[in-house]
Amino acid sequence: MFTVISTARVYPPNEETLLDTRTVPGELKWAASPTEGGWEEVSIMDEKNVPIRTYQVCNVMEPSQSNWLRTDWIPRSGAQRIYVEIKFTLRDCNSLPGVTGTCKETFNLYYYESNNDREHYIRESNFLKIDTVAADESFTQVDIGDRIMKLNTEVRDVKVTTRKGFYLAFQDVGACIALVSVRVFYKTCPLTVRNLATFPDTNTGADTSSLVEVRGSCVNQSEEREEPKMYCGADGEWLVPIGGCVCNLGYEERSGVCQACTVGFNRAVSTDRACSKCPPHSHSEKEGAAVCDCNPGYYRSESDPASMPCTQPPSAPQQLISEVNETSVVLEWSAPLRLGGRSDISYSVDCLLCHGPESQTGNRTQIGNVLFSPQQSGLRATRVCVSELQAHTRYTFTILARNGVSQGHSAGAGQSVSVTLTTNQAAPSPVTSIQAGDVTRHGVSLAWQQPDRPNGVILEYEVKYYEKDQKESSYRIMKTASRSADITGLSPLTVYLYQVRARTAAGYGEFSGPLEFSTNSDPLPLIGDAASSTLLLLSISGGVILLLTSTAVFIISRRYKHIWIYVDPFTYEDPDQAVHEFAKEIDATYIHIEKVIGIGEFGEVCSGRLRLQGKREIYVAIKSLKAAYSNKQRQDFLSEASIMGQFDHPNIIRLEGVVTRCKPVMIITEYMENGSLDAFLRKHDGHFTVIQLVGMLRGIASGMKYLSDMSYVHRDLAARNILVNSNLVCKVSDFGLSRVLQEDPENAYTTRVTGTYHSPGGKIPIRWTSPEAIAYRKFTPSSDTWSYGVVMWEVMSYGERPYWDMSNQDVIKAIDEGYRLPPPMDCPVCLHQLMLDCWQTERTHRPSFTQILNMLDKLIRNPTTTLRRTGGDRPVPSLLEPVGGPEFVSVWSAEDCLQAIGMGMYRDTLTTAGYTSPDSLLTLTHQDMTSIGIITPSHQDQILASVQQVLLSHMQQIQEQMPDSMVPV
Ligand code: AMP
Repeated sequence: MFTVISTARVYPPNEETLLDTRTVPGELKWAASPTEGGWEEVSIMDEKNVPIRTYQVCNVMEPSQSNWLRTDWIPRSGAQRIYVEIKFTLRDCNSLPGVTGTCKETFNLYYYESNNDREHYIRESNFLKIDTVAADESFTQVDIGDRIMKLNTEVRDVKVTTRKGFYLAFQDVGACIALVSVRVFYKTCPLTVRNLATFPDTNTGADTSSLVEVRGSCVNQSEEREEPKMYCGADGEWLVPIGGCVCNLGYEERSGVCQACTVGFNRAVSTDRACSKCPPHSHSEKEGAAVCDCNPGYYRSESDPASMPCTQPPSAPQQLISEVNETSVVLEWSAPLRLGGRSDISYSVDCLLCHGPESQTGNRTQIGNVLFSPQQSGLRATRVCVSELQAHTRYTFTILARNGVSQGHSAGAGQSVSVTLTTNQAAPSPVTSIQAGDVTRHGVSLAWQQPDRPNGVILEYEVKYYEKDQKESSYRIMKTASRSADITGLSPLTVYLYQVRARTAAGYGEFSGPLEFSTNSDPLPLIGDAASSTLLLLSISGGVILLLTSTAVFIISRRYKHIWIYVDPFTYEDPDQAVHEFAKEIDATYIHIEKVIGIGEFGEVCSGRLRLQGKREIYVAIKSLKAAYSNKQRQDFLSEASIMGQFDHPNIIRLEGVVTRCKPVMIITEYMENGSLDAFLRKHDGHFTVIQLVGMLRGIASGMKYLSDMSYVHRDLAARNILVNSNLVCKVSDFGLSRVLQEDPENAYTTRVTGTYHSPGGKIPIRWTSPEAIAYRKFTPSSDTWSYGVVMWEVMSYGERPYWDMSNQDVIKAIDEGYRLPPPMDCPVCLHQLMLDCWQTERTHRPSFTQILNMLDKLIRNPTTTLRRTGGDRPVPSLLEPVGGPEFVSVWSAEDCLQAIGMGMYRDTLTTAGYTSPDSLLTLTHQDMTSIGIITPSHQDQILASVQQVLLSHMQQIQEQMPDSMVPV
């Protein structure tokens, strides 16, 4: 019996055993042929005393042996190549005594593929030979009975691919063999995970060199990055891994598997290998979070990466400032305090009154007629210009700040800031449709439509007409309140051109294009016809009259061309309409009253501050209407604002607005730090140079020239009604129409005077009023000139009371008798001469304010020769002579002046517009500046406030260099 040293039945992992004789319980009962005397099944014990089956044969003495031993059917189980491991002992023929050449030391191994698992008989010739097996050197020693034998192990492999199974056969050809064990197996590449893909247990291929391509499948919670593939080699080894999988978002790879991110972590991007902590302002509540959710109040935009912190919509834009320029407004603001953690902020402008189709052309958005430049929404900059608005209309603009997370999360008002403003008056658009009706020899009737955009109440139309041949060198003007005009006085059979323009409180619009029309032919003159005698007369007086007439027309029309006539608020049926036409309504909450500075006709006057939305805070004077007032008093009080609001001049007190919608009713004007001129001069008696005093007078004259150009007669020009600011700029004020004073401590006004000077209504400031105005209320620019003469006297005498303590009656009488105030102490002769000119009894002999202004400018230009003389010994320049000259310009230029006030950047703008000399700068108004493109209000104010001051101090320097200085007076 054999005792076999046990070999452990532990197979390598890549081998699948199909048959192992050592594990078969009981007998094998393989088919042997011949059934007797050939292979014999022998049971032996292994070293653990477990019985094992062996087959033995040992017919070494007999020739021509062919002993077959056939296994049972072995299922292939999908294998394509099987391995047969045979453990056997083989007797060395030499070790057998007496053996002849019949002894063999090999056996043959065969196989036969079959689907039949129970074949009784298989012809031997059907078997295919696998190999001849011989014992080799590698063997283990086996103890067989009392002998030690060598146990050989031989492995042979063969391809089995055609049937479900096979049979093996061992052919002995005369050896002494014991088959100790037979194991049949095939090789597999065992299940494995590579690059997060699982590759299943895979049978190797049929050939020894074949590679089986296997597709892997992604492990749980992972997805294919690139098709995972590997090859199963013939010996059961995996080869050449390709591609693989990646963990799903929210999972990370740990030890070849995908594991969920823990709470508070996420994995949002597939390129990240590991889970990371939630970004700021976000959280994850469950494991396996791909994205961390934003905390309440924080958001992500669609394009925000999940790794970005959650953000918030911005807070409201800040410090919205608006600058209205006629019908345009520039809105500027600062970025919000909180940007919400983002940088993609943009702004949009909402305007409730801007409707209509929307389009974007170039760098502006159009909504209806309104233009937004550069655009209405998606603004990156903090500035937008809105133009083509309706004139004189209240608009509310809202600036909304947005960022990438505003959509749907915006709380509306929280992100916006608004400003309400009223556009300025703007001139009406041109009249477009003029038609001619009746045409006669000397006239034509015209009719037209209201302009498309009147921009306010049309006060009148102006028709300009001229002979076509004469072009515009000589034209005539006709004004009418209606939309038609009968033009008369034309020459027969002559072609005329007609143009019409409209005027509102904001001024004139553009003229229409010219309408060309010829008058009819003149019938032959009849004897005795009035026309013929006129013609005769005309022909006699010849060209002289014609020339005079056309010159006059030309002068008049030139004058009208630039002038905007003041509108009496009492011509309005509803006085409130007048107030709102000319004055801005101010919200009382914007006004901060500080202290009482005076008592006016209707109540207290206070100083304070005004901060309009979007504007810088300014100091203002606030006149309020006392509590118990009649309707008439309210109207009278507000009429001052209606008048003041029509003026725009550096020497006229500027109206900021009115408060009429709540009580007390108030009028807000610019604040004049030094109060009224008379008190100011009395307080500073003897403190100023003549040049400074003349500078004040010049300012007053300039303001009065402006008023008279506007056809406004002041009626109460006196030093007490001139206000002085901190720069010593004097401004005309007090435009109240009613002179009903409660208190008149200086007895300036009188109602009832005797004799010639009876005044039928209102009170008259006798000492300041011209004789014709006292006598029969003939108030004209010339009567204002008289008053101006008195103001000159007040100024030069530092606020002395005119005519001292004479009674009103005595004053009237003295004037009537030709008496005039003497020159104040140290007053230059030429100034007193100018006063006397203003006090001419014949009003037409008095100078106009234009002439007064020219005269004063001439004095200022040549102070050395004019202001030094205080005696009346030398002739003074005649006032009515045209004055002017280049002296001043040569002394100093407009450019120097602009540089001195820090406004040098406007040099070219002003020069192009014709403001080349320093004194021309003195004539500038807000409106002038706006029209030539200086639109920044603070710059306009700076120019107006500083130019006079700089010029005067320059003059003063010149005067101080004079050898025989006059100063102080
Ligand atoms: P009125 O009613 O205009 O005569 O004003 C009465 C007084 O208030 C004046 O005499 C000034 O002293 C003072 N006052 C009026 N308006 C202003 C102003 N704009 N700035 C400074 N003081 C003013």
